Amino acid sequence: MRDPLTVNALPGILGLEAYSPGMPIEELQRRLGLHDVVKLASNENPLGPSPSVTAALRAALDGNLALYPDGSGHRLKQAIGRYHDIDPNCITLGNGSNDILEFLGRIYAGPGRAVLFSAHAFAVYSLVAQAQDADAVVAPARPADDAQPYGHDLEAFAEALQRRPDVSLVFIANPNNPTGTFLTAEAVEAFLNRVPPQVIVAYDEAYYDYMDPSLRGDSRDWLRRFPNLLVCRTFSKAYGIAGLRAGYALSSPAVADLLNRVRQPFNLNSLALVAAEAALADQAHVAASVALNSRERQRLTDACTGLGLRVLPSEANFITVDFGRDAKPVHQGLLERGVIVRPMGSYAMPHFLRISVGTERENDRFLDALSAVLA
Ligand SMILES: *Cc1c(COP(=O)(O)O)cnc(C)c1O
Repeated sequence: MRDPLTVNALPGILGLEAYSPGMPIEELQRRLGLHDVVKLASNENPLGPSPSVTAALRAALDGNLALYPDGSGHRLKQAIGRYHDIDPNCITLGNGSNDILEFLGRIYAGPGRAVLFSAHAFAVYSLVAQAQDADAVVAPARPADDAQPYGHDLEAFAEALQRRPDVSLVFIANPNNPTGTFLTAEAVEAFLNRVPPQVIVAYDEAYYDYMDPSLRGDSRDWLRRFPNLLVCRTFSKAYGIAGLRAGYALSSPAVADLLNRVRQPFNLNSLALVAAEAALADQAHVAASVALNSRERQRLTDACTGLGLRVLPSEANFITVDFGRDAKPVHQGLLERGVIVRPMGSYAMPHFLRISVGTERENDRFLDALSAVLA
């Protein structure tokens, strides 16, 4: 007999598996009685937010938290509009950019429709398709020996679109998480030219700031030319406020209008609104965070390569390392030494671990623990 509490749940929801996030520091401290725990598992900014963000938050605490926030996010949208030189009615705010990805699912995915994304892409894309009971069309990734190993193959995306006229929504991450791989601006633009106008392309630039500037595409220009394009940005990575949940989409006003219909009226709380505005204003902090990341990403890459490991080339704030065998024991060994990294079994890459780039001290802790585990 079926459980009466699930019998009426929607099939897409029943098929879901809850997203498993990186282990919180407190959990490992509790489990192993460790004090000095380093978390390099969720691609957060190791410098934390700009000091002006914490100052703005302190000031906001003296305001009236009993009042609902500004549901339109007027001030933050004005600031984002100035930053990108884009009309605020092209902007939708999200409780993290994850919120935006879910809005897109609710608007464009459902039974009889399909969502297209790459193998080894950000896990949320498949969750969105599954939750809506839409078909997931998974484009094969670039081969392991490619210059962008396990990265998106936009040729395969275009072929999938030809084969599957039921695709209504496409997710592209550039750079991609969890592989760190990137797509050239030319490849993205060539692909956009091949997408039918009724298919929405969600172009996820969560790691945009970490990319080498010479590799970055001009998504602002593409937005003008491709009305079916939506660009996602987040305050969780380079801006350092993952804990507050703020992200946004840039799109055509018509798509922004649909996003706003499904958005809860107060999806960003008043502290997140204040913090995101202050974070955006401090581009020097972003630049310092990016500089630290570039330096330390190279150092981690060199050190892991020196240990005989293959490191995927990364344009993001993490490295993805191939252990050539099941990486679970290595993951466990690192945990026992107080270092939390991200296993990749759920991304169909069980031989890999993803390590977020931390501060110099955190990265040293990781490298020491890794050497001990591999010894
Ligand atoms: C981290 C990440 C996000 C951002 O998530 P938030 O909800 O904004 O914290 C979006 N896309 C990708 C690919 C990511 O890795």
